[in-house]
Amino acid sequence: MKTSDDQFGCSFCGRDKKEALILIAGIEGHICELCVEQAYEIVRQELYDNDEKLKKKEENLDVPEHITPQQIKKYLDQYVIGQNEAKKCISVAVYNHYKRIKNKSIDEVELEKSNILLVGQTGTGKTLIAKTIAKMLDVPFAIVDATVFTEAGYVGEDVESMLSRLLQACDYNVEAAERGIVYIDEIDKIARKSDNPSITRDVSGEGVQQAMLKILEGTDVLVPPQGGRKHPEQKLVKVNTQNILFIAGGAFDGLEKIISRRLNKNVIGYGNEDSKAIDTEKLFHYVSHKDLKTFGLIPELVGRLPVLGYLEPLDQETLQRIMTEPRNALIKQYKRLFELEGVKFSMTDGAIEYIAQKAIDFGLGARGLRSICEAIMMDAMFEIPSKKDVKVFEVDLRYAKGKLDKVQLKKLKAA
Ligand code: ADP
Repeated sequence: MKTSDDQFGCSFCGRDKKEALILIAGIEGHICELCVEQAYEIVRQELYDNDEKLKKKEENLDVPEHITPQQIKKYLDQYVIGQNEAKKCISVAVYNHYKRIKNKSIDEVELEKSNILLVGQTGTGKTLIAKTIAKMLDVPFAIVDATVFTEAGYVGEDVESMLSRLLQACDYNVEAAERGIVYIDEIDKIARKSDNPSITRDVSGEGVQQAMLKILEGTDVLVPPQGGRKHPEQKLVKVNTQNILFIAGGAFDGLEKIISRRLNKNVIGYGNEDSKAIDTEKLFHYVSHKDLKTFGLIPELVGRLPVLGYLEPLDQETLQRIMTEPRNALIKQYKRLFELEGVKFSMTDGAIEYIAQKAIDFGLGARGLRSICEAIMMDAMFEIPSKKDVKVFEVDLRYAKGKLDKVQLKKLKAA
């Protein structure tokens, strides 16, 4: 490889040597690094499009061959406690999504994309489900927050940047990203706020929803590789979203009221005779696409998230199971940590019940289990490594209470 002298520039794009990082000399002229990249892309696309074998190979890439919805659910069961309805619904949607990718060129009936919308209070496992699915399928996964996006022209990020995260998650391997999963968190926060007369132009709401439509449906999107806003100087990467599975999640505060209104039942009580059968505790069971539209999602967006799943609020028993049952359960992690010190660790049922109850009392949900445990375990984790004679460590109700009482509750609530 030979680089040029100062007076030369790229014979393809005209940039001079000062602007180019690398100039490669040919017999008649020079080529800069950007033109090499572009030329490579053209060559790749030309060869790729003409090569049926390669195309076929892509269709078969990493798409799980024999996995059934039941097996997907079984896998989820190892990590996600409870939430059976949501897990079932996701398993079917994921199965159909990959079946659709595999059969798209064979079938005459076009199978529609089955993007998913998960409704449920914060900390009930929405992100965990999406993350676990990606782990099972071994596909790139990105979590994005819908609230950071704004319409072009406002302070914030372009919606296209959600794909930047996906690219970053797989080291900019476009083909891998095109089979990935994007979890869009807090989708409820970009609901249209048209009820509020003071908002003349809804920056963060409807415009963002509109901008998401094409991406969710499946199209070629020009993505700024570093995220943020698209700049004229920034080189954009083309990503096709046809096979990307989008899972959106949100707490949808206030949705219960909309559901109950639709069901002609007042949440506070005084229901009529017909509505006696409806379980007011579990109004999310009855959630429909119509309720989401009333909440403020535009019909087009709701239409592009056809699979609708709901997650139950976590009760004390479920929180206890979360502490002990998943493959990476908190108690299992502590056991392993102490085992490495040569100490046998255990926690009594009484202590586990107490911690789960505290998580509910503090309104922390499953997310709070770890911070409560950390507060209880801190002293022991600090002291035991230097006490070589300690071989057994059991946390019982008295110990847990004693330690937690010392910690400022405010600190925990802020966690
Ligand atoms: P969100 O619904 O807000 O997306 P997450 O999935 O992020 O909630 O849950 C937060 C944490 O709480 C998870 O990392 C996990 O440790 C725990 N968790 C929540 N729900 C469950 C569940 N159903 N089973 C097991 N762990 C859970």
